[in-house]
Amino acid sequence: MNNNTSEKSALVIGAGIAGLMAARVLSEHYDNVVVIERDSQPEMPGTRAGVPQSFHLHQVLPRGEMILERFFPGFLEDLVALGAFSSPNATATMTNRYGTLGFPGDGKAMTYSRALLEWALRQRVQAIPNVRFLYHQEVIALETNSDRTVVTGVRIRERGQLEHQVTLSADLVVEASGRSSKLSSWLSALGYKLPEDERVKANIGYTTRNYKVSANRGENVAVIVVEASPATGHFTGGVLKRIENDIWTVCLASVGGYYPPTDPEGFEAGLRSLPVSPVLADMLQGAEPLSEPRGYRIPECVRHHYERMEEWPSGLLVLGDALCHFDPVYGQGMTLAAIEVETLAASLSEQQGQPQRGFERHMLQQMQDAIAPAWWRSTVEDLLWPGVTHSGPDALQDVPLLHKYFDFCLKQSTHQLERLQQKGEFNMLFFKYFMMNWLFIAPREVINADMLNALLESETQASKQAILAELFAGYDQSIETVLAGIAPNFSSTFQLPEGF
Ligand SMILES: Cc1cc2nc3c(=O)[nH]c(=O)nc-3n(C[C@H](O)[C@H](O)[C@H](O)COP(=O)(O)OP(=O)(O)OC[C@H]3O[C@@H](n4cnc5c(N)ncnc54)[C@H](O)[C@@H]3O)c2cc1C
Repeated sequence: MNNNTSEKSALVIGAGIAGLMAARVLSEHYDNVVVIERDSQPEMPGTRAGVPQSFHLHQVLPRGEMILERFFPGFLEDLVALGAFSSPNATATMTNRYGTLGFPGDGKAMTYSRALLEWALRQRVQAIPNVRFLYHQEVIALETNSDRTVVTGVRIRERGQLEHQVTLSADLVVEASGRSSKLSSWLSALGYKLPEDERVKANIGYTTRNYKVSANRGENVAVIVVEASPATGHFTGGVLKRIENDIWTVCLASVGGYYPPTDPEGFEAGLRSLPVSPVLADMLQGAEPLSEPRGYRIPECVRHHYERMEEWPSGLLVLGDALCHFDPVYGQGMTLAAIEVETLAASLSEQQGQPQRGFERHMLQQMQDAIAPAWWRSTVEDLLWPGVTHSGPDALQDVPLLHKYFDFCLKQSTHQLERLQQKGEFNMLFFKYFMMNWLFIAPREVINADMLNALLESETQASKQAILAELFAGYDQSIETVLAGIAPNFSSTFQLPEGF
């Protein structure tokens, strides 16, 4: 490729969510963009070997959908045209240990599978004239200049073929090959010293099964989330989501090494045993299963700290799960990929498509800043579960207090929103906790004395004192100081949707 040396070219490794979005952004700044994918070109939406997780229930956070729509205007309409479920009467509810909430935006819910999302994205990216796809080709190594300071391309070979290898050159290589990324070993092989990764050993289990939507039971149900807690059982929760073709995809998830059953009877008994509500099992009574339950295990979540490397070759970037793969229970991965790509787009635009010296290192830091809040939030939450451990260059601080504080936020917010919901009212203040989890606002906006006071307002004086004594037991500074101290100071930007 790149016969014309005045033309700039970029290579993307992997045509998953991150790779496809990155190709779209790079196509604005590079003359040629080539996406290399080890799987064959799909002929229809469906699961594929390169993304084994794609059978399992995936939900894009609203912030991720906003970014997708910005990069691909009309994208959500594409999904509806392809069969995504959308109905003015659609309902979406979340049951947690303190109550049941309808999400704001009820009636506008639009739901689809991971496979349909990726298909729609691929159609859009394949239509970009300067983006080319090489399917059934596997990247096996990075190519560099002689002193290994610049990545000049990649070496590929056809899938299943061992002998014949080809070298492709490019001005920029973007590694987006997902959670099975070989980047650390490629860099080590080139002589680079790698810093310590951050790891959450969480032993996560997922089991998913598909059912035919039964018209007599909640055909307008878009999503039902049932969240459990370590105090009430082994599962973190269960989710039912309507996807295309009148299918409900249903999953049970767990953290801490107790895996949801994959036999049909065990799976359905698991749904019924969800401690906070048997609603999922009730919904599925008499529903026709379309598949056997299928399991997926994730021993650990990993955040690579490439930004801390003393040396980093120019001409190389990394994003998506290849940079950091999260506990999927919180549905953050694809949204984070979108946020990272948005970060890349902003930097490339700033530099008017002419990356300056140090651009790659700058990007590595920007990406870390972008993922930090989500990683922090999911790690703190995972540590609630027995047996989960966190390791890495920086220890997490004040986790027990954070657990108590977030539990208090969840409880008060749920009670207040439920109360208001019954009167047909809504107050954004009580939705802040959820907005933080959806990456719309910074944790600081939830962890502060004003928020605490607002959440305590409905309590009697005696109960307030009891709650504060329990929350801050062992801390002798003022509440303001303690909360300011435990709220992390993330530099990344948060973006509120219109109307909030
Ligand atoms: C069980 C489960 C449930 C999940 N649920 C959610 C959810 O609800 N919401 C959410 O946002 N996220 C969820 N995730 C996470 C989500 O799947 C990932 O965050 C997302 O797919 C990351 O996109 P990516 O492009 O980085 O990687 P992927 O989508 O995995 O794509 C990587 C691509 O690279 C290709 N590839 C790999 N190696 C090579 C190579 N050497 N050469 C060429 N091509 C290569 C692969 O074939 C693949 O196409 C879930 C994950 C799991 C495991």
